[in-house]
Amino acid sequence: MTDAFDVVVVGAGAAGLAAGARLTAAGVSVAVLEAASRPGGRAYTDTTSLDAPWDQGCHWLHSASVNPLRAAADELGVSYMLRGSRQARATHLGDRWADEAERNEVWQAIDGAFAAVKQAGDEGRDIAASAVLDTSSRWLRLVRHWITLMSAAEPERLSTLDYAAYSDTAENYPVSTGYGALIAAAARRMAPALDVTLDCPVAAVDWSGQGVVLDTPRGRVKARLAILALPTTILASGRLRFAPLLPAALAETFEALPLGCAEKVALRFDREVFGMPATSYCDTIDLRDPKRPPVNFTLNPFGHSMAIAQLGGDNAARLVKAGPAAMVDFALAALVDTFGADIRDRVAGTATTGWIANPLIGGAYSCALPGKAHMRTRLVDALDDPGTLDGKVMFAGEAVSAYAYSTAHGAWLSGLRAADNALARLGRKAA
Ligand SMILES: Cc1cc2nc3c(=O)[nH]c(=O)nc-3n(C[C@H](O)[C@H](O)[C@H](O)COP(=O)(O)OP(=O)(O)OC[C@H]3O[C@@H](n4cnc5c(N)ncnc54)[C@H](O)[C@@H]3O)c2cc1C
Repeated sequence: MTDAFDVVVVGAGAAGLAAGARLTAAGVSVAVLEAASRPGGRAYTDTTSLDAPWDQGCHWLHSASVNPLRAAADELGVSYMLRGSRQARATHLGDRWADEAERNEVWQAIDGAFAAVKQAGDEGRDIAASAVLDTSSRWLRLVRHWITLMSAAEPERLSTLDYAAYSDTAENYPVSTGYGALIAAAARRMAPALDVTLDCPVAAVDWSGQGVVLDTPRGRVKARLAILALPTTILASGRLRFAPLLPAALAETFEALPLGCAEKVALRFDREVFGMPATSYCDTIDLRDPKRPPVNFTLNPFGHSMAIAQLGGDNAARLVKAGPAAMVDFALAALVDTFGADIRDRVAGTATTGWIANPLIGGAYSCALPGKAHMRTRLVDALDDPGTLDGKVMFAGEAVSAYAYSTAHGAWLSGLRAADNALARLGRKAA
C-alpha cells in the first residue's frame, strides 16, 4: 500500500469511523487504517461469544437528546429503551434486599457524592474527587463503585473540574441490538463505500516533509493530512513514533487524560432465572464483608436470559489481571448471594472483557487527573488549530471532546469535526 491519499485516518473506533465515513462521502481519497482484526474499537457488539448480542464496550446512548447516534438509530430503525431513573434500581446487601428507606439513603449518598464533585468543579476547583466525598457514609464503597463506573477512575485520580465539564442530560438509553453494531451501521449509512484496512497497525508518523508518511506492515502510506483517532493511553505510551517528536505541550495532554478501567462479565443462562422483567438493573454491596467490592448488573437485557456485570476502577483491573475465571467467579458469587445458588446450574456460557490489557486500547475511557482538567481544553483546542503539527496531523477520539468526553458520541463528533477540518484544509466541501 504505497498510494498517496488526501487523508489517512488511523484507528477505526467510533471517531475514526465517523471521520472516514464523512471524508468518503465527500469524495476525497481516504485510507482508514485499523490495527485490530475488526473495526469499532471500544464500540463492539459481541455476537459470537454467547448466543445473544452484548456490548463489550459502549452500550448506552448517553445524553440521547443531543446524541447524533440516537438520530442515526431512529433513521436505521434500531430500537433502544427509554430507561427509567437510576433510583429505580434495587440494591442487594449481601443477605437481603435493601428496604425503601435504605434505598433512598443509598441514592442520597450516591447523588450527594456526584453533586459534591460537580460543585467543586463548578467552583473552578481542580482537585481529586476523593477530597469531597463523605468518608463516614456507610455506603462509601457503593459510592466509589459508581464513581468508577462513570469515570472509570478511582476518585483519587479523578479531576473535579473535568468531571464538572461533562454535559449530562440524564437520558441514557440502552440499544437493543448493541451500540457497537449501531455505530458500524451509522458509518455504513453515511458512506456505503467506506473502506477500512484491518490488521494494519501504524508504527510511525513522519510529518517532517510535505504531507505525512506512515509506516505500516503493508508499506508506507502517504497522505496530505492525517487524523489520529487513537486512545490517549496508546498515544502516551510512546509506541507510536513521531518524527519530528510531538510538541511537549501536546504530548503531555495524553498523559494527563489516561483511560481508567471499566470491564464487564456476561453470563448467559439456559432459562430466565432472576424473576425480573427485561432490562432490569440491580446493585450489590455486601454489608457483611467490607473488603468485598460492590458490583452492579443488568439483568435479562432486552429479554435475553443474561446478566451483565459491570466492574470499575482498581477492582476491575485486579480481576482482569487475575483472568476470566476470576472475573466470572466474582460476578457469579454476587448473583448467587442475590438470587440463590441454583442459578449456578443454569449458567450456559460466560464471556469477559479485558480492555485494560488490550495493547491497542489500554483502558475504558479518559478522565483528567486532578489538577489537569485544562489539558483536555488544550487537546480539544488543538483539533481546530491549523498550527498544530503544521496543520497536517489532527487528533480525534473520545478524549478530544470538551463536554461529551469518555462517550461514544463524543468520539463520533470529534471524528466528524476532524474530517470537516481536513476538508476545509484541503479546500473541499462536505457532502
Ligand atoms: C466497558 C466500557 C463501557 C462503555 N460504556 C459506554 C456507554 O455505555 N456509552 C458510551 O457512550 N460510551 C461508553 N464507553 C466509551 C466508548 O466506548 C468510547 O468512548 C468510544 O467507543 C471510544 O471511541 P474512539 O474512537 O475514541 O476510540 P477507540 O474505540 O479506542 O478506537 C481507537 C482504535 O484505534 C485502534 N488502534 C490502536 N493503535 C493503533 C495503531 N497503532 N494503528 C492503527 N490503529 C490503532 C484500536 O484498535 C481502536 O480500534 C464504554 C467503554 C467501555 C470500555
